[in-house]
Amino acid sequence: MTAETFSAQETHELGRKIGENALPGEVYTLIGDLGAGKTVFTQGVAEGLGVKDAVNSPTFTILQIYEDGRMPFYHFDVYRIGCIEEMDEIGYEEYFYGNGVCFVEWANLIEEILPENYKEIRIDTDISKGPDYRRITIEEKPAKA
Ligand code: ADP
Ligand code: MG
Repeated sequence: MTAETFSAQETHELGRKIGENALPGEVYTLIGDLGAGKTVFTQGVAEGLGVKDAVNSPTFTILQIYEDGRMPFYHFDVYRIGCIEEMDEIGYEEYFYGNGVCFVEWANLIEEILPENYKEIRIDTDISKGPDYRRITIEEKPAKA
């Protein structure tokens, strides 16, 4: 599906709906440039999951775990990852194949370890439509025939 948003609040709201409907064991990837709105979207997801703790993208932490929602919420931001072994050190498999829901900002940097099935959320800007415009595409991977 594709949605268009015209403010950060609308992106947050879309994230909240996804969070409300997320299922245990799902992995979502977030693809988009710096400032696209991946963290805004993720904050909406957290709200939809009932997470009360503040969600942000700490510069030097690849994984933040929130356990106060209706299921564990694993927020990865791999922007500053140096090599894929760092994911092993974190023990990512426990989270990707666990009973919580994973959201992975900059997942394109760790493509080789993504699970076979995941949902990709792509956030694109289009400056011709204004600075606050975003096109958000959510797609199952691999694409269904
Ligand atoms: P990322 O995590 O992708 O680097 P952030 O979510 O941290 O990006 O930041 C997105 C920035 O863009 C925020 O400052 C937000 O207020 C702004 N913004 C403007 N319009 C939108 C929109 N439609 N959706 C999401 N963010 C928007
Ligand atoms: Mg971010």
